[in-house]
Amino acid sequence: MIKILYTFLLFAILAGCSGLEDSEKKKIRKMNAIGEHIYRSHNEYIFPIGKSVRRERENYPWEHAYVGNFHRITEDCFRCRGSQQNAFITQHSNGQETHTFDCGGMDQHSLPFKEGKEFIYSALIDLLNYIQEKTQKKVIVTCGHRCPKHNTYSDTSKFNRTSKHMIGAEVDFYVRGLEWSPETVVQLIKDYYREQPRFRSDENFTHFHRYEKDTNVSTLPWYNKEIFVKLFKKDEGRDFDNNHRYPFISIQLKWDRDQKEPVTYSWSQAFNGYLRY
Ligand SMILES: [Zn+2]
Repeated sequence: MIKILYTFLLFAILAGCSGLEDSEKKKIRKMNAIGEHIYRSHNEYIFPIGKSVRRERENYPWEHAYVGNFHRITEDCFRCRGSQQNAFITQHSNGQETHTFDCGGMDQHSLPFKEGKEFIYSALIDLLNYIQEKTQKKVIVTCGHRCPKHNTYSDTSKFNRTSKHMIGAEVDFYVRGLEWSPETVVQLIKDYYREQPRFRSDENFTHFHRYEKDTNVSTLPWYNKEIFVKLFKKDEGRDFDNNHRYPFISIQLKWDRDQKEPVTYSWSQAFNGYLRY
């Protein structure tokens, strides 16, 4: 019992000492403390902070790859569909037999090459992405760039010899889910020019004419300053690349929106304007 009493007494003395020490320290700190003024006005900044403005979040790099649920249409969708696996075509004319061979496709040559890189006119890519975004349906490019060899292999007709497919200025496509409503897609192409800020106040682009002269389609084509649009019905315009059972649309470029000059076929651009591997 006495032992416990002593222990308690010792504890009380020690605790009392440390309490005294603490208050002593506080007193000394208070005596020595020096306040310092901040010599700066409330509206004085070295780096002024701009006013916050709410804005939409920018896309992450991987999000640029998509339009809605589908992969964005890029130059890659325009690669030549030729292949060495394709059998040669035999033709007879004036008693002579000739063989036409296909190209080696994307393994053996590039897209049209301009200013050191592969090139497809951006207007075509823009239009296809617009259609994909508006319809939320996949655009199927059946024919983008054709090298001269594959162009002859696909369609040996005279009409095709100066095709703008060879210079990256023409595209054939249909929309999955709208295969049998190509007119809806043509309407969307017109809407594109009426919506785009750079075109919507220019009648040369918003107003489409019908092309009345003879062509290889039964529906009169549409055109404005930039493009020429043909609608091929299910039994029209079939060639090696468009060997499917759907109607399809062809967009041919007439005007280069970036260089502000007409787009015309040139032999030299078609035959020399791409790299062979
Ligand atoms: Zn090719």
